[in-house]
Amino acid sequence: MAKIVVEQIPVLTDNYIYLLHEPESGATAVVDPAVTEPVLEHLAAKNWRLTHILNTHHHGDHTGGNIDLIKHTGCVVVGAARDSERIPGIGIEVGEGDTFMLGAAAAMVFEVPGHTSGHIAFWFPDSHALFCGDTLFSLGCGRLFEGTPEEMWRSLKKLRDLPAETLVYCGHEYTAANGRFARLVERDNQALHVRLEQVEKLRAKGRPTIPATLADERAANPFLRADMGSVARAVGMEPDAHPNLVFAELRRRKDVF
Ligand code: ZN
Ligand code: FE
Repeated sequence: MAKIVVEQIPVLTDNYIYLLHEPESGATAVVDPAVTEPVLEHLAAKNWRLTHILNTHHHGDHTGGNIDLIKHTGCVVVGAARDSERIPGIGIEVGEGDTFMLGAAAAMVFEVPGHTSGHIAFWFPDSHALFCGDTLFSLGCGRLFEGTPEEMWRSLKKLRDLPAETLVYCGHEYTAANGRFARLVERDNQALHVRLEQVEKLRAKGRPTIPATLADERAANPFLRADMGSVARAVGMEPDAHPNLVFAELRRRKDVF
């Protein structure tokens, strides 16, 4: 039952890179390194040696630092087997149900297609930590570049089923903008109003709104609530409309919001 320490590094406009350190073994991973320099700086400051890169998907703002970091540290890239051709420098290929060991800390791999066809998420149960890239955001979800609404809704439900105390470490700081849309969907959602106030305070101080808890997301994120009658009604459908259709309409509206 080994826990990891998580360091959050904001880069580019709104990306988050995460450094994961398992203290017993010293194993250290970086999740979705968009860039190289800030990662090397943080590693040096912590005196950690990078052993792995964990990629959630192939987009450049999640893999841009792969090759340089391999050169600097000799680390091994862990990515989706389904996407091995698009993950730069991939060394360990993983898929649904696989367990990846970062030293003594176990991570389960989920396939969560929708944003891209090969998107995966890493869940460290002993640390209650989920790294979900651009699938689930706080108060939102990723755009459907390579998947159908049905696929994305299935992927999001998979993540929604994790324990309530799970900390959601996503790929971007999009929470405030997502919240402006969410507020239009569920005007009377008290949990959403509480979260929006919290987000406003954090952003005013320049602090991250991430991680979010899965409990809060279940209560406030409309994209995890496509099977709620209130959300169906908000997009002009019957309360018992099929969640696939409700989700598709929500995503469509957000795309043009
Ligand atoms: Zn992406
Ligand atoms: Fe991204």
